[in-house]
Amino acid sequence: MTQRGTGFTRRGIMGLGAAGLALAASAPGPARAEKVRTPARILILGAGAAGTTFANRMVERLEGAEITLLDDRLQHFYQPGFSLIGAGLKPARYAVSPTGEWLPAGVRWIKEKAAEIDPVAKAVTTARGTRLAYDYLIVATGLVLDYGAIEGFSPEMIGTGGIGSVYAGPDAAARTWTAAARFAEEGGQGLFTRPATEMKCAGAPLKHTFLIDDIARSRGGRPKAEFTYFSNNETLFSVPIVHEKLRMLFGNRGIATAPSHVLTAIEPGQRRAFFRTPEGLVERPYDYIHVIPPMRAPDVVRNSPLPWADRWTDQGWVEVDMGTLRHSRFPEVFAIGDVAGVPKGKTAASVKWQVPVVEDHLIAAIEGREGAASYNGYTSCPMITRVGRAMLIEFDYQNNLVESFPGIVAPLEELWISWLMKEIALKATYNAMLRGRA
Ligand SMILES: Cc1cc2nc3c(=O)[nH]c(=O)nc-3n(C[C@H](O)[C@H](O)[C@H](O)COP(=O)(O)OP(=O)(O)OC[C@H]3O[C@@H](n4cnc5c(N)ncnc54)[C@H](O)[C@@H]3O)c2cc1C
Repeated sequence: MTQRGTGFTRRGIMGLGAAGLALAASAPGPARAEKVRTPARILILGAGAAGTTFANRMVERLEGAEITLLDDRLQHFYQPGFSLIGAGLKPARYAVSPTGEWLPAGVRWIKEKAAEIDPVAKAVTTARGTRLAYDYLIVATGLVLDYGAIEGFSPEMIGTGGIGSVYAGPDAAARTWTAAARFAEEGGQGLFTRPATEMKCAGAPLKHTFLIDDIARSRGGRPKAEFTYFSNNETLFSVPIVHEKLRMLFGNRGIATAPSHVLTAIEPGQRRAFFRTPEGLVERPYDYIHVIPPMRAPDVVRNSPLPWADRWTDQGWVEVDMGTLRHSRFPEVFAIGDVAGVPKGKTAASVKWQVPVVEDHLIAAIEGREGAASYNGYTSCPMITRVGRAMLIEFDYQNNLVESFPGIVAPLEELWISWLMKEIALKATYNAMLRGRA
């Protein structure tokens, strides 16, 4: 699963964070082969980062295909922007655009959710009961935030009583900033959490901690504040060298860590949080708490035959081959984006690498041959460490650091250029990706 193994150029497969710079050099996107004629019925579930990107690329590659996209969400969310909104650096509208704006002509958009998937009969039933038969199914539903698993919590609390959660959407991220800004001025106990499940952008909980620490220094609250980061296991990040760097940075900034602490409940009235630890339940008071709930595949996927039977059984990710992203038992089914059951890759940058791989195998299947492309687990995280500085961390399944700009952007250094990639270039690149051009 080397980069060469994918059969694409380096520029074509560069991750989103780094690709911001490539985009500035106005890369035209991958060269297009001649269109393939086919009457195939391709059904895509989800019009988020993965589904939209895939739909745009299919329209370019196929002629005569019936491409259908199912999603009832009328607004597209640029989720990497939530971290900036949650720190008061962008308004909520920065992350919102109409879904329809990104969808190509030639794709039928049904504004409904998928309610049932029957991969044996090769059909999906929509929420209003329409049955859609398919030849190929692309599962791109993203994931759900299981706030209900945190006792005493409900998303309406975000922004009040010292509670934040940048994950819950653009408005919730803006309300998070209201609560975080107060803490940054007044100080107190700040608790920063992450869930024990797989999660999208595992860097986001850390970014929020770093940003609020930095902002508290300029707003006067830092000397009166205590910061604690609660990790679900003994590490701060799954890539060992990154964990080590983060441990040093947290030490330098006076941010305490509490390993193997998983948030299970809060008492908002009393401002108390409860953590499951190997030693039993631990109670901690807070003035500000950043809550990130467990994440799981949507029910439509979890209740279908598609998830792994022996892995992530409480989460329900789709059972796909980690290289081809093709279902292990239903070869006409693929999964891309957050819902894919692979050990890494729950970022928009991963989507950029995953989509061409599935495209390759789908076109090959239509043409009656084997595809060659393979996803190597590429995941990218512009790890913001303060306002104006970030580390561009890119890695693969083997935890190798993958450098898109060797000698220019060092992955473990806090750089202004890496900050610019997150703050400016990433959104432009993401938008180009959605249109199938990056
Ligand atoms: C706070 C935060 C910060 C992040 N930062 C970064 C970053 O810096 N860099 C980066 O690369 N990534 C980042 N990400 C992650 C990135 O946004 C996601 O990995 C990416 O959006 C995944 O794309 P997706 O298409 O799988 O899911 P989504 O973009 O979430 O889209 C899923 C779509 O599926 C639809 N859907 C759900 N259920 C159904 C159904 N039953 N039927 C039909 N449709 C359905 C939903 O309505 C939605 O439109 C961040 C995410 C968050 C929350």
